[in-house]
Amino acid sequence: MLDVDSTLSGIEGIDWLASLRDDTVARAISELTERAMRGELTLDSIYSERLALVRPTESEISVLGDEYVEAIAPGAEGAISDMKAAGVNVLLVSGGIREAILPLAARLEIPESNVHAVSVFFDAAGEYWGFDEMAPAAHQKGKRKIVELLALERPIIAVGDGMTDAEMAPAVDSFVAFTGFVSRDRVVAAAQRSVATFHELKGLVLG
Ligand SMILES: [Mg+2]
Repeated sequence: MLDVDSTLSGIEGIDWLASLRDDTVARAISELTERAMRGELTLDSIYSERLALVRPTESEISVLGDEYVEAIAPGAEGAISDMKAAGVNVLLVSGGIREAILPLAARLEIPESNVHAVSVFFDAAGEYWGFDEMAPAAHQKGKRKIVELLALERPIIAVGDGMTDAEMAPAVDSFVAFTGFVSRDRVVAAAQRSVATFHELKGLVLG
């Protein structure tokens, strides 16, 4: 179970979208994101607020898809390919926007059915219409719910940089904090292990 924003890719999608708006919106949103990832705010309390402020269009989501691929973590492509070749089932679990993450998944040859994120909807003109409020990943403990619902083969290793990732810890065999882009004390404290690179992660997963 791999987080995407600031783990598999070096950007925060919602912050990137906000950077297309004026400075006040961009600053407000990146502050909300950072506080949620540090565990000071729940994801539930900010999810719809952030999207309502940004209102991403369909074409912006498409450009964000390219940005995720551009900013892929160093070594991630090779490490994921090696892990998959060794029989590891690689899943992406993200509070980010599913339609923007699919190109990254395609690049890594991860099937769409292994991508668990939040869909956004557009009207016929490609303007923002809303998001899938029922998607578990839009909620604070949603990633844990996803792990439980999937009833995956064990052992399960969850990897991420934020508190919403750390919420998976009770439902998996090992939660690994990824510190390659951002290191947060509460997340590291909640983790069994920390890694700063995908090379290290591969070593840990494949033993
Ligand atoms: Mg993250």
